[in-house]
Amino acid sequence: MLTNDQLGQWDRENFFHPSTHLAQHARGDTPTRVITSGEGVHITDRDGRKMLDAFAGLYCVNVGYGRTEIAEAISKQAHELAYYHSYVGHGTEASITLAKMILDRAPDNMSKVYFGQSGSDANETNIKLVWYYNNILGRTEKKKIISRWRGYHGSGLMTGSLTGLELFHNKFDLPLSQVIHTEAPYYLRGATPGMSEEEFAADCAAKLEEMILAEGPDTIAAFIGEPVLGTGGIVPPPAGYWPAIQAVLKKYDILLIADEVVTGFGRLGSMFGSEHYGIEADIITIAKGLTSAYAPLSGSIVSDKMWKVLERGTDENGAIGHGWTYSAHPIGAAAGVANLDLIDKMGLVENSGTTGSYMLNKLTEAFADHPNVAQVRGEGLMCAVEFAEAKSPLNLYDPSRKIGPTISAAMAENNVIARAMPQGDIIGFAPPLCITPDEVDQVVSVAKDAVTKVLG
Ligand code: PLP
Repeated sequence: MLTNDQLGQWDRENFFHPSTHLAQHARGDTPTRVITSGEGVHITDRDGRKMLDAFAGLYCVNVGYGRTEIAEAISKQAHELAYYHSYVGHGTEASITLAKMILDRAPDNMSKVYFGQSGSDANETNIKLVWYYNNILGRTEKKKIISRWRGYHGSGLMTGSLTGLELFHNKFDLPLSQVIHTEAPYYLRGATPGMSEEEFAADCAAKLEEMILAEGPDTIAAFIGEPVLGTGGIVPPPAGYWPAIQAVLKKYDILLIADEVVTGFGRLGSMFGSEHYGIEADIITIAKGLTSAYAPLSGSIVSDKMWKVLERGTDENGAIGHGWTYSAHPIGAAAGVANLDLIDKMGLVENSGTTGSYMLNKLTEAFADHPNVAQVRGEGLMCAVEFAEAKSPLNLYDPSRKIGPTISAAMAENNVIARAMPQGDIIGFAPPLCITPDEVDQVVSVAKDAVTKVLG
Protein backbone atom coordinates (compact mmCIF):
# COMPACT_ATOMS: atom_id res chain seq x y z
CA MET A 1 0.00 0.00 0.00
CA LEU A 2 1.23 3.50 -0.77
CA THR A 3 2.17 5.59 2.23
CA ASN A 4 0.66 9.02 2.62
CA ASP A 5 4.08 10.52 2.02
CA GLN A 6 4.37 8.84 -1.37
CA LEU A 7 0.89 9.95 -2.37
CA GLY A 8 1.64 13.45 -1.13
CA GLN A 9 4.74 13.63 -3.30
CA TRP A 10 2.95 12.27 -6.38
CA ASP A 11 0.15 14.72 -5.71
CA ARG A 12 2.47 17.73 -5.58
CA GLU A 13 4.36 16.59 -8.66
CA ASN A 14 1.44 15.59 -10.90
CA PHE A 15 -1.98 16.78 -9.84
CA PHE A 16 -3.37 20.19 -10.93
CA HIS A 17 -6.12 20.74 -8.34
CA PRO A 18 -9.10 23.02 -9.02
CA SER A 19 -9.65 26.10 -6.82
CA THR A 20 -6.29 25.66 -5.12
CA HIS A 21 -3.30 27.94 -4.45
CA LEU A 22 -1.10 26.17 -7.00
CA ALA A 23 2.29 27.43 -5.85
CA GLN A 24 1.70 26.77 -2.16
CA HIS A 25 0.42 23.30 -2.87
CA ALA A 26 3.27 22.38 -5.21
CA ARG A 27 5.74 23.59 -2.57
CA GLY A 28 4.10 21.38 0.02
CA ASP A 29 2.92 24.35 2.15
CA THR A 30 -0.63 22.98 2.13
CA PRO A 31 -1.47 19.38 2.96
CA THR A 32 -2.65 16.67 0.60
CA ARG A 33 -5.88 15.27 1.98
CA VAL A 34 -6.71 11.75 0.87
CA ILE A 35 -10.28 10.75 1.63
CA THR A 36 -10.91 7.03 1.56
CA SER A 37 -14.47 6.34 2.65
CA GLY A 38 -17.74 7.83 3.77
CA GLU A 39 -20.90 6.85 5.58
CA GLY A 40 -23.97 8.99 6.27
CA VAL A 41 -22.67 12.47 7.15
CA HIS A 42 -19.11 11.28 7.85
CA ILE A 43 -15.99 10.90 5.74
CA THR A 44 -12.76 9.17 6.76
CA ASP A 45 -9.28 9.94 5.53
CA ARG A 46 -6.31 7.68 4.96
CA ASP A 47 -5.03 8.25 8.49
CA GLY A 48 -8.31 6.91 9.86
CA ARG A 49 -9.53 10.34 10.89
CA LYS A 50 -13.34 10.54 10.79
CA MET A 51 -14.94 13.91 10.13
CA LEU A 52 -18.51 15.15 10.07
CA ASP A 53 -18.93 16.75 6.65
CA ALA A 54 -21.27 19.67 7.29
CA PHE A 55 -20.86 20.82 3.67
CA ALA A 56 -21.79 17.53 1.93
CA GLY A 57 -18.66 17.67 -0.25
CA LEU A 58 -19.50 20.76 -2.29
CA TYR A 59 -23.14 20.81 -1.14
CA CYS A 60 -23.85 17.87 -3.39
CA VAL A 61 -24.00 14.59 -1.43
CA ASN A 62 -27.66 15.09 -0.57
CA VAL A 63 -28.42 11.49 0.45
CA GLY A 64 -25.22 11.13 2.46
CA TYR A 65 -22.21 8.92 1.84
CA GLY A 66 -22.07 5.15 1.39
CA ARG A 67 -25.55 4.47 0.04
CA THR A 68 -25.30 0.95 -1.34
CA GLU A 69 -28.57 1.35 -3.29
CA ILE A 70 -26.85 3.86 -5.59
CA ALA A 71 -23.58 1.93 -5.73
CA GLU A 72 -25.50 -1.18 -6.79
CA ALA A 73 -27.47 0.70 -9.45
CA ILE A 74 -24.20 2.04 -10.88
CA SER A 75 -22.61 -1.39 -10.80
CA LYS A 76 -25.60 -3.03 -12.49
CA GLN A 77 -25.61 -0.38 -15.23
CA ALA A 78 -21.83 -0.69 -15.75
CA HIS A 79 -22.14 -4.44 -16.14
CA GLU A 80 -25.09 -4.29 -18.52
CA LEU A 81 -24.11 -1.25 -20.60
CA ALA A 82 -21.50 1.20 -19.36
CA TYR A 83 -21.99 3.59 -22.26
CA TYR A 84 -24.06 4.44 -25.22
CA HIS A 85 -24.68 7.92 -26.59
CA SER A 86 -27.96 9.79 -26.67
CA TYR A 87 -27.64 11.48 -30.09
CA VAL A 88 -30.38 11.11 -32.73
CA GLY A 89 -32.98 9.64 -30.44
CA HIS A 90 -30.86 7.04 -28.63
CA GLY A 91 -31.32 6.44 -24.93
CA THR A 92 -31.23 3.90 -22.16
CA GLU A 93 -33.92 2.76 -19.79
CA ALA A 94 -32.15 4.74 -17.06
CA SER A 95 -31.91 8.03 -18.96
CA ILE A 96 -35.52 7.92 -20.18
CA THR A 97 -36.81 6.96 -16.74
CA LEU A 98 -34.77 9.69 -15.08
CA ALA A 99 -36.09 12.37 -17.45
CA LYS A 100 -39.63 11.33 -16.50
CA MET A 101 -38.81 11.28 -12.77
CA ILE A 102 -37.38 14.80 -12.99
CA LEU A 103 -40.39 16.14 -14.88
CA ASP A 104 -42.74 14.47 -12.37
CA ARG A 105 -41.04 16.50 -9.63
CA ALA A 106 -40.47 19.77 -11.52
CA PRO A 107 -42.89 22.73 -11.76
CA ASP A 108 -45.87 22.16 -14.08
CA ASN A 109 -44.71 24.49 -16.86
CA MET A 110 -41.61 22.37 -17.54
CA SER A 111 -41.45 20.15 -20.63
CA LYS A 112 -38.13 18.33 -21.31
CA VAL A 113 -34.71 17.64 -19.78
CA TYR A 114 -31.39 17.97 -21.63
CA PHE A 115 -28.63 16.08 -19.76
CA GLY A 116 -25.01 17.18 -19.30
CA GLN A 117 -22.29 16.32 -16.82
CA SER A 118 -21.72 19.38 -14.64
CA GLY A 119 -23.50 22.50 -13.47
CA SER A 120 -21.13 24.55 -15.60
CA ASP A 121 -21.89 22.75 -18.85
CA ALA A 122 -25.64 22.82 -18.09
CA ASN A 123 -25.50 26.61 -17.81
CA GLU A 124 -23.46 26.81 -21.03
CA THR A 125 -26.25 24.80 -22.69
CA ASN A 126 -28.84 27.17 -21.24
CA ILE A 127 -27.28 30.26 -22.74
CA LYS A 128 -26.99 28.59 -26.15
CA LEU A 129 -30.68 27.60 -25.93
CA VAL A 130 -31.65 31.16 -25.02
CA TRP A 131 -29.74 32.54 -28.02
CA TYR A 132 -31.18 29.90 -30.35
CA TYR A 133 -34.69 30.67 -29.05
CA ASN A 134 -34.34 34.37 -29.78
CA ASN A 135 -32.85 33.73 -33.21
CA ILE A 136 -35.77 31.48 -34.12
CA LEU A 137 -38.14 34.24 -32.98
CA GLY A 138 -36.22 36.70 -35.17
CA ARG A 139 -35.02 38.71 -32.16
CA THR A 140 -31.41 38.66 -33.25
CA GLU A 141 -30.31 41.58 -31.05
CA LYS A 142 -31.85 40.17 -27.85
CA LYS A 143 -28.76 38.34 -26.55
CA LYS A 144 -27.31 39.87 -23.35
CA ILE A 145 -27.56 37.92 -20.13
CA ILE A 146 -28.02 39.58 -16.75
CA SER A 147 -26.53 37.82 -13.78
CA ARG A 148 -26.01 39.04 -10.20
CA TRP A 149 -22.86 40.08 -8.42
CA ARG A 150 -22.02 37.19 -6.09
CA GLY A 151 -24.00 34.72 -8.21
CA TYR A 152 -22.22 31.43 -8.94
CA HIS A 153 -22.98 29.61 -12.17
CA GLY A 154 -19.79 27.73 -12.97
CA SER A 155 -16.28 28.43 -14.18
CA GLY A 156 -16.34 27.93 -17.96
CA LEU A 157 -15.98 30.85 -20.37
CA MET A 158 -19.65 31.82 -20.38
CA THR A 159 -20.47 30.44 -16.94
CA GLY A 160 -17.38 31.98 -15.35
CA SER A 161 -18.64 35.24 -16.85
CA LEU A 162 -22.09 34.71 -15.34
CA THR A 163 -20.47 34.04 -11.98
CA GLY A 164 -20.24 37.35 -10.15
CA LEU A 165 -17.15 36.69 -8.02
CA GLU A 166 -13.90 38.49 -8.79
CA LEU A 167 -11.67 35.46 -8.30
CA PHE A 168 -13.35 33.79 -11.27
CA HIS A 169 -12.80 36.81 -13.56
CA ASN A 170 -9.41 38.19 -12.59
CA LYS A 171 -6.62 37.36 -15.05
CA PHE A 172 -8.97 35.23 -17.16
CA ASP A 173 -10.23 38.10 -19.37
CA LEU A 174 -13.76 37.53 -18.09
CA PRO A 175 -16.59 38.43 -18.07
CA LEU A 176 -17.38 38.09 -21.77
CA SER A 177 -19.08 41.14 -23.27
CA GLN A 178 -22.55 39.54 -23.48
CA VAL A 179 -22.81 39.27 -19.70
CA ILE A 180 -23.70 42.12 -17.33
CA HIS A 181 -24.12 42.01 -13.55
CA THR A 182 -26.75 43.58 -11.37
CA GLU A 183 -27.11 44.10 -7.60
CA ALA A 184 -26.79 41.05 -5.33
CA PRO A 185 -29.86 40.46 -3.15
CA TYR A 186 -27.67 40.76 -0.06
CA TYR A 187 -29.71 42.62 2.53
CA LEU A 188 -26.99 42.69 5.19
CA ARG A 189 -24.50 44.42 2.94
CA GLY A 190 -26.65 46.17 0.35
CA ALA A 191 -29.51 47.78 2.30
CA THR A 192 -29.18 51.35 3.57
CA PRO A 193 -29.86 51.89 7.30
CA GLY A 194 -33.53 51.62 8.18
CA MET A 195 -34.51 49.93 4.91
CA SER A 196 -36.91 46.96 5.32
CA GLU A 197 -36.29 43.72 3.43
CA GLU A 198 -39.24 44.50 1.17
CA GLU A 199 -37.85 47.95 0.40
CA PHE A 200 -34.44 46.48 -0.38
CA ALA A 201 -36.06 43.87 -2.67
CA ALA A 202 -37.95 46.65 -4.47
CA ASP A 203 -34.67 48.56 -4.78
CA CYS A 204 -32.96 45.51 -6.37
CA ALA A 205 -35.85 45.24 -8.84
CA ALA A 206 -35.65 48.98 -9.60
CA LYS A 207 -31.90 48.71 -10.27
CA LEU A 208 -32.55 45.75 -12.57
CA GLU A 209 -35.13 47.77 -14.49
CA GLU A 210 -32.75 50.74 -14.76
CA MET A 211 -30.10 48.44 -16.21
CA ILE A 212 -32.55 46.95 -18.72
CA LEU A 213 -33.65 50.40 -19.85
CA ALA A 214 -30.09 51.70 -20.08
CA GLU A 215 -28.98 48.72 -22.19
CA GLY A 216 -32.21 48.60 -24.22
CA PRO A 217 -34.83 45.92 -23.45
CA ASP A 218 -34.49 44.55 -26.99
CA THR A 219 -30.89 43.56 -26.22
CA ILE A 220 -31.57 41.60 -23.01
CA ALA A 221 -32.30 37.90 -23.48
CA ALA A 222 -32.27 36.38 -20.00
CA PHE A 223 -31.70 36.78 -16.29
CA ILE A 224 -30.01 33.99 -14.35
CA GLY A 225 -30.11 33.56 -10.59
CA GLU A 226 -29.87 30.99 -7.83
CA PRO A 227 -33.02 30.91 -5.65
CA VAL A 228 -30.65 31.33 -2.66
CA LEU A 229 -27.19 32.77 -3.41
CA GLY A 230 -24.80 29.88 -2.73
CA THR A 231 -21.06 30.27 -3.22
CA GLY A 232 -21.53 34.05 -3.05
CA GLY A 233 -22.22 33.72 0.68
CA ILE A 234 -25.31 31.52 1.30
CA VAL A 235 -27.74 34.42 1.25
CA PRO A 236 -31.50 33.76 1.17
CA PRO A 237 -33.33 36.47 -0.79
CA PRO A 238 -34.95 39.36 1.07
CA ALA A 239 -38.73 39.11 1.46
CA GLY A 240 -40.52 39.91 -1.79
CA TYR A 241 -37.40 39.64 -3.97
CA TRP A 242 -38.47 36.99 -6.48
CA PRO A 243 -41.96 38.42 -7.18
CA ALA A 244 -40.44 41.89 -7.69
CA ILE A 245 -37.72 40.60 -10.04
CA GLN A 246 -40.13 38.44 -12.03
CA ALA A 247 -42.50 41.37 -12.59
CA VAL A 248 -39.65 43.32 -14.23
CA LEU A 249 -38.56 40.36 -16.37
CA LYS A 250 -42.13 39.76 -17.60
CA LYS A 251 -42.55 43.43 -18.46
CA TYR A 252 -39.58 43.31 -20.87
CA ASP A 253 -40.06 39.75 -22.14
CA ILE A 254 -36.82 38.48 -20.60
CA LEU A 255 -36.35 34.77 -19.94
CA LEU A 256 -35.59 33.54 -16.41
CA ILE A 257 -33.05 30.80 -15.73
CA ALA A 258 -33.31 29.43 -12.19
CA ASP A 259 -29.94 27.91 -11.36
CA GLU A 260 -30.96 25.13 -8.97
CA VAL A 261 -27.66 23.25 -9.03
CA VAL A 262 -27.55 23.57 -5.23
CA THR A 263 -31.21 24.12 -4.35
CA GLY A 264 -32.68 21.36 -6.54
CA PHE A 265 -33.77 18.08 -4.93
CA GLY A 266 -34.51 19.15 -1.41
CA ARG A 267 -31.83 21.47 -0.05
CA LEU A 268 -34.33 24.19 0.97
CA GLY A 269 -36.96 21.81 2.34
CA SER A 270 -38.86 21.82 -0.98
CA MET A 271 -38.10 19.66 -4.02
CA PHE A 272 -37.05 22.80 -5.94
CA GLY A 273 -36.19 26.32 -4.88
CA SER A 274 -38.53 27.52 -7.64
CA GLU A 275 -41.44 25.90 -5.81
CA HIS A 276 -40.15 27.32 -2.50
CA TYR A 277 -40.15 30.95 -3.69
CA GLY A 278 -42.84 30.87 -6.41
CA ILE A 279 -40.31 31.29 -9.20
CA GLU A 280 -41.73 30.56 -12.65
CA ALA A 281 -38.59 29.82 -14.64
CA ASP A 282 -38.12 29.22 -18.35
CA ILE A 283 -35.14 26.93 -17.68
CA ILE A 284 -34.06 25.23 -14.45
CA THR A 285 -30.44 24.11 -14.07
CA ILE A 286 -29.86 20.94 -12.06
CA ALA A 287 -26.75 18.95 -11.10
CA LYS A 288 -25.26 18.05 -7.69
CA GLY A 289 -28.32 16.64 -5.83
CA LEU A 290 -29.58 14.98 -9.03
CA THR A 291 -27.22 12.06 -8.36
CA SER A 292 -26.01 13.21 -4.91
CA ALA A 293 -22.67 13.33 -6.77
CA TYR A 294 -22.38 9.52 -6.95
CA ALA A 295 -21.73 10.07 -10.66
CA PRO A 296 -21.43 13.29 -12.68
CA LEU A 297 -24.73 14.33 -14.22
CA SER A 298 -26.49 17.64 -14.80
CA GLY A 299 -29.57 18.81 -16.59
CA SER A 300 -31.35 21.75 -18.17
CA ILE A 301 -35.10 21.50 -17.62
CA VAL A 302 -36.75 23.44 -20.41
CA SER A 303 -40.24 24.96 -20.21
CA ASP A 304 -43.12 24.32 -22.62
CA LYS A 305 -42.83 27.87 -23.87
CA MET A 306 -39.20 27.41 -24.90
CA TRP A 307 -39.60 23.84 -26.09
CA LYS A 308 -42.22 24.84 -28.69
CA VAL A 309 -39.79 27.35 -30.19
CA LEU A 310 -36.90 24.86 -30.12
CA GLU A 311 -39.05 22.35 -32.02
CA ARG A 312 -39.91 25.01 -34.57
CA GLY A 313 -36.20 25.79 -34.88
CA THR A 314 -35.35 22.23 -35.84
CA ASP A 315 -38.25 22.07 -38.32
CA GLU A 316 -36.74 25.12 -39.98
CA ASN A 317 -33.01 24.33 -39.60
CA GLY A 318 -32.51 20.62 -39.03
CA ALA A 319 -31.17 18.82 -35.96
CA ILE A 320 -30.08 20.98 -33.06
CA GLY A 321 -26.32 21.53 -33.21
CA HIS A 322 -25.64 20.87 -29.57
CA GLY A 323 -24.56 17.70 -27.77
CA TRP A 324 -21.89 16.15 -25.55
CA THR A 325 -20.49 12.64 -25.91
CA TYR A 326 -21.51 12.04 -22.31
CA SER A 327 -25.00 13.62 -22.44
CA ALA A 328 -27.30 11.34 -20.42
CA HIS A 329 -24.41 8.99 -19.59
CA PRO A 330 -26.05 5.70 -18.52
CA ILE A 331 -24.02 5.41 -15.31
CA GLY A 332 -24.98 8.93 -14.23
CA ALA A 333 -28.58 8.26 -15.19
CA ALA A 334 -28.69 5.00 -13.21
CA ALA A 335 -27.24 6.83 -10.21
CA GLY A 336 -29.88 9.55 -10.65
CA VAL A 337 -32.80 7.10 -10.70
CA ALA A 338 -31.59 5.33 -7.54
CA ASN A 339 -30.82 8.66 -5.87
CA LEU A 340 -34.24 10.23 -6.50
CA ASP A 341 -35.89 7.05 -5.23
CA LEU A 342 -33.79 7.24 -2.09
CA ILE A 343 -34.57 10.92 -1.50
CA ASP A 344 -38.27 9.97 -1.49
CA LYS A 345 -37.89 6.80 0.60
CA MET A 346 -35.78 8.52 3.25
CA GLY A 347 -38.09 11.56 3.39
CA LEU A 348 -35.10 13.83 2.84
CA VAL A 349 -36.95 16.84 1.47
CA GLU A 350 -39.00 16.97 4.65
CA ASN A 351 -35.97 16.36 6.85
CA SER A 352 -34.18 19.20 5.13
CA GLY A 353 -37.00 21.56 6.12
CA THR A 354 -37.37 20.44 9.73
CA THR A 355 -33.72 19.79 10.57
CA GLY A 356 -32.80 22.91 8.61
CA SER A 357 -35.03 25.03 10.88
CA TYR A 358 -33.50 23.28 13.88
CA MET A 359 -30.01 24.10 12.62
CA LEU A 360 -30.82 27.75 12.01
CA ASN A 361 -32.31 28.05 15.52
CA LYS A 362 -29.28 26.42 17.12
CA LEU A 363 -26.84 28.61 15.16
CA THR A 364 -28.87 31.68 16.11
CA GLU A 365 -28.86 30.70 19.81
CA ALA A 366 -25.12 30.10 19.66
CA PHE A 367 -24.05 33.19 17.73
CA ALA A 368 -26.65 35.95 17.45
CA ASP A 369 -25.28 37.79 20.50
CA HIS A 370 -21.61 37.47 19.61
CA PRO A 371 -20.19 40.98 19.02
CA ASN A 372 -18.41 39.82 15.85
CA VAL A 373 -21.30 37.95 14.27
CA ALA A 374 -23.00 40.24 11.78
CA GLN A 375 -25.69 37.76 10.75
CA VAL A 376 -26.90 34.18 11.13
CA ARG A 377 -29.03 33.23 8.14
CA GLY A 378 -30.37 30.21 6.31
CA GLU A 379 -33.13 28.40 4.51
CA GLY A 380 -33.56 24.63 4.82
CA LEU A 381 -30.17 22.97 5.13
CA MET A 382 -28.27 25.97 3.75
CA CYS A 383 -27.08 28.13 6.61
CA ALA A 384 -24.32 30.67 7.17
CA VAL A 385 -22.75 32.73 9.90
CA GLU A 386 -21.13 35.98 8.77
CA PHE A 387 -18.42 37.65 10.85
CA ALA A 388 -17.49 41.34 11.05
CA GLU A 389 -15.32 43.66 13.13
CA ALA A 390 -18.50 45.50 14.17
CA LYS A 391 -22.20 44.95 13.47
CA SER A 392 -23.72 48.38 13.54
CA PRO A 393 -22.66 50.18 11.53
CA LEU A 394 -21.39 47.13 9.65
CA ASN A 395 -17.60 47.10 9.52
CA LEU A 396 -16.23 44.05 7.74
CA TYR A 397 -12.87 42.50 8.56
CA ASP A 398 -9.93 43.19 6.31
CA PRO A 399 -9.86 40.09 4.05
CA SER A 400 -6.12 39.68 4.69
CA ARG A 401 -6.95 38.62 8.26
CA LYS A 402 -8.64 35.49 6.86
CA ILE A 403 -11.07 35.21 9.76
CA GLY A 404 -13.44 32.84 7.91
CA PRO A 405 -10.73 30.38 6.80
CA THR A 406 -9.18 30.44 10.30
CA ILE A 407 -12.51 29.54 11.92
CA SER A 408 -13.14 26.78 9.39
CA ALA A 409 -9.61 25.39 10.02
CA ALA A 410 -10.24 25.47 13.79
CA MET A 411 -13.45 23.49 13.23
CA ALA A 412 -11.59 20.94 11.10
CA GLU A 413 -9.15 20.38 13.99
CA ASN A 414 -12.21 19.13 15.87
CA ASN A 415 -13.34 16.98 12.97
CA VAL A 416 -16.19 19.04 11.57
CA ILE A 417 -16.06 20.42 8.03
CA ALA A 418 -17.75 23.74 7.35
CA ARG A 419 -16.82 25.85 4.34
CA ALA A 420 -15.17 29.24 4.50
CA MET A 421 -17.09 30.87 1.65
CA PRO A 422 -15.03 32.92 -0.82
CA GLN A 423 -15.28 36.73 -0.76
CA GLY A 424 -16.24 37.36 2.86
CA ASP A 425 -15.75 36.03 6.37
CA ILE A 426 -18.63 33.62 6.13
CA ILE A 427 -18.86 30.05 7.38
CA GLY A 428 -21.28 27.95 5.35
CA PHE A 429 -23.19 24.87 6.49
CA ALA A 430 -24.90 22.61 3.93
CA PRO A 431 -24.74 19.05 5.28
CA PRO A 432 -26.21 15.93 3.69
CA LEU A 433 -30.00 16.09 3.92
CA CYS A 434 -30.02 13.03 6.20
CA ILE A 435 -28.35 14.90 9.09
CA THR A 436 -30.01 14.39 12.49
CA PRO A 437 -30.60 16.96 15.25
CA ASP A 438 -27.89 15.28 17.38
CA GLU A 439 -25.38 15.68 14.56
CA VAL A 440 -26.46 19.32 14.15
CA ASP A 441 -25.75 19.83 17.87
CA GLN A 442 -22.24 18.53 17.34
CA VAL A 443 -21.67 20.84 14.36
CA VAL A 444 -22.89 23.89 16.29
CA SER A 445 -20.88 23.05 19.40
CA VAL A 446 -17.67 22.63 17.38
CA ALA A 447 -18.41 25.88 15.52
CA LYS A 448 -18.92 27.66 18.83
CA ASP A 449 -15.61 26.43 20.24
CA ALA A 450 -13.82 27.46 17.04
CA VAL A 451 -15.29 30.97 17.10
CA THR A 452 -14.33 31.37 20.77
CA LYS A 453 -10.81 30.21 19.98
CA VAL A 454 -10.37 32.61 17.05
CA LEU A 455 -12.39 35.66 18.13
CA GLY A 456 -12.91 35.20 21.87
N1 PLP B 1 -24.43 26.63 -10.45
C1 PLP B 1 -24.39 26.68 -9.11
C2 PLP B 1 -25.51 27.37 -8.39
C3 PLP B 1 -23.34 26.09 -8.40
O1 PLP B 1 -23.30 26.18 -7.07
C4 PLP B 1 -22.35 25.42 -9.13
C5 PLP B 1 -21.23 24.76 -8.41
O2 PLP B 1 -21.03 24.93 -7.24
C6 PLP B 1 -22.42 25.41 -10.52
C7 PLP B 1 -23.48 26.01 -11.16
C8 PLP B 1 -21.34 24.77 -11.33
O3 PLP B 1 -21.42 23.41 -11.20
P1 PLP B 1 -20.13 22.48 -11.55
O4 PLP B 1 -19.11 22.79 -10.52
O5 PLP B 1 -20.70 21.10 -11.48
O6 PLP B 1 -19.70 22.85 -12.91
